[in-house]
Amino acid sequence: MTDAAALHARTLTLDSHIDIPWPDGPDPFTDSTRCVDLPKMRRGGLGAGCFVAYVPQGPRTDAATAASFDRALAMLQAIHAMGAGSLARVTVSADEVEAAHRAGAIAVIPVVENAQAIGADLSRIAVFAGRGVRYVTLTHNGHNALADAAIPRAELGDPQALHGGLSALGRQAIREMNRLGIMVDVSHTAKATMMQAAAWSRSPVVASHSCARALSDHPRNLDDEQLDALRDAGGVIQITAMPAFLRRGAPEAEVTVADLVTHIDYAVRRIGLDHVGISSDFDGGGGITGWRSAAESGNVTAELVARGYDEGAIAALWGGNFLRVMRAAERLAE
Ligand SMILES: [Zn+2]
Repeated sequence: MTDAAALHARTLTLDSHIDIPWPDGPDPFTDSTRCVDLPKMRRGGLGAGCFVAYVPQGPRTDAATAASFDRALAMLQAIHAMGAGSLARVTVSADEVEAAHRAGAIAVIPVVENAQAIGADLSRIAVFAGRGVRYVTLTHNGHNALADAAIPRAELGDPQALHGGLSALGRQAIREMNRLGIMVDVSHTAKATMMQAAAWSRSPVVASHSCARALSDHPRNLDDEQLDALRDAGGVIQITAMPAFLRRGAPEAEVTVADLVTHIDYAVRRIGLDHVGISSDFDGGGGITGWRSAAESGNVTAELVARGYDEGAIAALWGGNFLRVMRAAERLAE
């Protein structure tokens, strides 16, 4: 085993954004054609993952958001089922993630992507908390009742900006998330939403799957002003393995783990090691040469070692920082 491989094997590695098969995907307990299943995570030494109950953006009507809520609950049930065997455990706190890792089990962290599933009914946030949800991404592509997205959806009637960032309901929703210890995820949101959420949330916000706009001018990436705001709020950006975010316009096959670490390097230099982490967006469009599946996660560590990161820094990037933010949210919960 190389030094990098040994370091990888003893590090708690956490991928903060992984989509699940839906509606009828392969069994997560068996090796499949997908980027992520539990055997691939085990082989690749990937110790923890935020598994996403994702709902597409649709009309901002009560009927549509109620359907989104039902879908999110069904997806959360599927995520909880991943903890049924001996390979993995569902973990709903930073302590539980670390305990699972110590016990040799993969930590499955339930999350929700797109507050369309909340709609205008903030009581749904407590239902999510009861299902162990640790972050809610405020938007997907397209504005919802809570906030404006980075990418408006003209076909849904979206103007460039609907609320000018957070709506009044969005601010109330963040207060409720704070009260329940759920992290606020600002990936996918408009810059105005992100800046307002970073200032308004009582616990640090996360960008669960985004990259640096200074290196790749994609609307889903965070510019320097946003990175600075994230640092000032104590939050973390989880640099993600999405080819178009890493090198917009480059042929997908040419985007590599080196590009991922170049974005990590940039964010570390800009806002400090404590505010940067790693995500794949696997099975949601993520995957780059060298990190095509959870089984190849060791290549990320090898590249970090090659770029001069020491073991402490690698542990912080691979999950330590994200768990710090999770703990901050937990401490705030009533
Ligand atoms: Zn996404």
